[in-house]
Amino acid sequence: MRVRCNECGTEGEFQLAAWRCSCGGAWEPARLPEFDPSRIFVQDFSIWRYGRMLGLDIDRPIKRMGVGWTPIVPVEISGQKIHLKLEYLSPSGSFKDRGVNAMVNQLVKMGANLLVEDSSGNAGASLAAHSARFGIKSKIFVPAYASPNKLAQISIYGVDVVPIEGLRSAAENAAQACVGKDGIYASHAYNPAYLAGQITAAWELWEQLNRHVPDWVISPVAQGGQFLGLWFGFKHLLEVGLIDRIPRMVAVQPARIAPLFNAWCQGLEEVKSIEASGPTVAEGVAISHPVRGKRLLQVIKDTNGMVVAIDEDAILMAQQDLARHGYYIEPTSALAIAALNNIAEYFNRTDIIVVPLTGNGLKGKPKYGDGSKD
Ligand SMILES: [Zn+2]
Repeated sequence: MRVRCNECGTEGEFQLAAWRCSCGGAWEPARLPEFDPSRIFVQDFSIWRYGRMLGLDIDRPIKRMGVGWTPIVPVEISGQKIHLKLEYLSPSGSFKDRGVNAMVNQLVKMGANLLVEDSSGNAGASLAAHSARFGIKSKIFVPAYASPNKLAQISIYGVDVVPIEGLRSAAENAAQACVGKDGIYASHAYNPAYLAGQITAAWELWEQLNRHVPDWVISPVAQGGQFLGLWFGFKHLLEVGLIDRIPRMVAVQPARIAPLFNAWCQGLEEVKSIEASGPTVAEGVAISHPVRGKRLLQVIKDTNGMVVAIDEDAILMAQQDLARHGYYIEPTSALAIAALNNIAEYFNRTDIIVVPLTGNGLKGKPKYGDGSKD
């Protein structure tokens, strides 16, 4: 798999031992094949529909999991017509499966049989589910304070769960310390194949919207895997002339822990690490520092996008609002619904607005993610 570091420009073949660039930057997929509609496997209703264009070392999956081709549904919320993309309808209940499915196939193809990850929630559950399906071992480091519901999900797949006392970063450090001697780092924050898997959502949208892309995409952002994957996907459609513009991309964060929002408001080119002003119900995005912060800011600028920060009350209200329309999602997903009110003045009447719903509400009562512990 060809990869490139957006921090220093280094390019090369992805190696199992080099989970990030020597400069510390995260690898991105590089030199993807041109997007060509005639190369779509049209009878494949999973991310492998686009297997020939993902730049991975394989174009068919080693094991099928049933990830991808999620429904898109038009709804009207507060007088605003939007399209929901039901990403939470995935085997482990979150959008993370899209990236993890591509990543696990790529890593297993390269010879990995023991994977290591740090997560307090959806990424860990997704990796654990894939490990069970692929019959490989995983070791998942979780903060000891992680939500019991999500821990129960990660554990039931039979993987090795290692609780780590202290901050969220302590779990990350513990995972990284055992990479190499004990396994391959399968990180949703750093792995380039994870990002490649998230690209497929953009191409699905293009097909599902009758070969058009939306005017707006609004999504919750922590590490930004979904956000950046969508952008890569749209960019590839633009490069071959299948679309004439990239949607305006809006990143949404909880006001209590909004490192990207802070950087964007200050006009910075890098995202600085911040401390939370308090706990947030949007635990899935409670991180103090995204590893792809520079790229996230570039994408927001290039797409004439925005970053929105949402108060706790508004997050819970949006979760309830959406439930009244028939969709039960976790509070982190509700961030994007809440943001509709903040930016309504920018929408034109005919604009197509897509909101991916990232995580299932059945994941349980929210654990208050505390950025200072992240
Ligand atoms: Zn680099």
